[in-house]
Amino acid sequence: MALRPVSWFALHMTIRRELLEHEGHLRLGVELLHDPRRNKGTAFTLEERRALGLCGLLPAQVLTEAEQIERSLENIRRSTDPLQRYIAMAALQDRNESLYFRVLQDNLAELMPIVYTPTVGRACEEYGHIFRRPRGLFVSLEHRGRIGECLRNWPVRDVRVIVVTDGERILGLGDLGANGMGIPVGKLNLYTACAGVSPHVCLPITLDVGTDNTALLEDRFYIGERRPRLRGAEYDEFVEEFVTEVAKAYPHVLLQFEDFGNKNAFRLLDRYRERLCCFNDDIQGTAGVALAGLLGALRLTGGALEDQRVLFLGAGEAGTGIANLIVAEMVSRGADPATARRCCWLVDSQGLVVASRSGLAHHKQPFAHDAAPAGDLLAAVEALRPTALIGVSGQPMAFHEQVIAAMTRHNQRPIVFALSNPTSKAECTARQAYEWSDGRAVFASGSPFDPVEYRGRTFVPGQGNNAYVFPGIGLGIVATAARMVPDEIFLVAARTLAAITSANDLATGCLYPPLAQIQQVSLAIAEAVAEFVFEAGLTELERPDDLGAHVRSFLWKPDYPEYLTES
Ligand code: NAD
Repeated sequence: MALRPVSWFALHMTIRRELLEHEGHLRLGVELLHDPRRNKGTAFTLEERRALGLCGLLPAQVLTEAEQIERSLENIRRSTDPLQRYIAMAALQDRNESLYFRVLQDNLAELMPIVYTPTVGRACEEYGHIFRRPRGLFVSLEHRGRIGECLRNWPVRDVRVIVVTDGERILGLGDLGANGMGIPVGKLNLYTACAGVSPHVCLPITLDVGTDNTALLEDRFYIGERRPRLRGAEYDEFVEEFVTEVAKAYPHVLLQFEDFGNKNAFRLLDRYRERLCCFNDDIQGTAGVALAGLLGALRLTGGALEDQRVLFLGAGEAGTGIANLIVAEMVSRGADPATARRCCWLVDSQGLVVASRSGLAHHKQPFAHDAAPAGDLLAAVEALRPTALIGVSGQPMAFHEQVIAAMTRHNQRPIVFALSNPTSKAECTARQAYEWSDGRAVFASGSPFDPVEYRGRTFVPGQGNNAYVFPGIGLGIVATAARMVPDEIFLVAARTLAAITSANDLATGCLYPPLAQIQQVSLAIAEAVAEFVFEAGLTELERPDDLGAHVRSFLWKPDYPEYLTES
């Protein structure tokens, strides 16, 4: 189908046909309006409307992009319910991708809590009920033996970043089955909004292996397979087929494992980390952002990393991931590994993790030290006198007043991170941490908290959001086509992030730079990661002379296509 610009028009302007081509055919104007990648909505100019067959398909008024942004924000803010705002953002993404990312990038502090934690948690819980259009790939058990075919159904061949979940541990909310798709979708949106990774090379995937969540199984609008979760050898074979097909279809892809239950998360990471370019954000990305927060905290408390005693509530992916990275940082500064490990202690649902406990999971064993058991967190705090307490247990209010008071008794400036997400699962609120410590706590959280006024001071709680780290790492990997993602990359990212946090941020108690700076942070991390990849010989590419310019050349900007050029 050929588009015929009116003849007077053709004298002055030429249509950029390549922007209109799709599989060898030119699109009709109406198709453009329904293609979110090419749609400009009411921003199509009158010339474009005439040339592209859009006359009559749009109301007369042409809006500038700035006006479209303003109107979109007005629409999104119309509802005070965060879930309705999430739905409005998703609808915008379905209509007009450039505008979506422009709105998101320009208003990250306001909208990140909508497109990601905490609201994405609620969206996942209700995914079947708010479902409008599918986004990403749902690879289910029915596709066993044919997973390659599912991947080929995705319209893009050059996929460079995949975020995949099996939905078993969505944030701190547990097994949400196929509803977990909100997480890969949200994370990939942050790759683009925070680090400029092109959305066209991103692919969200859910492995629908069933769910053990009975409420979902009984929910008539549940979107996934209605069967108990696949386990054991059959599960492993399914994931193996998936990873093999991914590596075949997309040889340069970065595969991010996200929100798998911890029994599978550690195993899968160990199995695949040297086979392809992959990482687990819950284990490694969390570790990067938490270590950066700890390094920032030490600039306030004045201590050396090697002198800290860090007590974790929660000994899962996040807890042991962070502990391992703290150890790696200490070792890189010259500490002996065994001594470094003794600086980290874990409390799980059975109490303090100590050597005398039997049947400890593999990932906890390095931190099972010789010590007397402690039945609960308070007893562990009294016994160990930690300098830092890190909550990654998904247990709301576990840092109760006595725990914070004990931390404050043992430390002039106790470091308290309540990282569990979403907000409803946080181990304590920001206000509680400041009030119960008499304003002395150095605090960070996983989900955002508003600034707290206390005794004439304003404290700004930092959000230890993984988004400070994984998008920049992703951009660095995409730009270098790295073969794998070693742990050192998370050290590089943590140090870069910590160095960017300014003295002014720290003075307000905030351990991270403002979210408004996240694009600069991501770019700095991407460049540092790229430097590391070349130094470590992790890529076949030749090192470009100007590495910064090379990384920046991968930045995607949410600009509208220019359909017409002067002829
Ligand atoms: P996980 O399931 O791997 O681990 C949870 C751990 O908590 C387990 O070791 C479990 O034994 C322990 N636990 C459960 N109940 C407990 C109790 N009553 N007392 C003590 N420990 C208890 O999960 P995970 O991936 O480690 O995530 C845990 C939490 O951390 C989640 O809420 C998640 O949202 C949050 N998280 C936050 C960030 C971030 O803010 N940057 C990143 C990753 C994870």
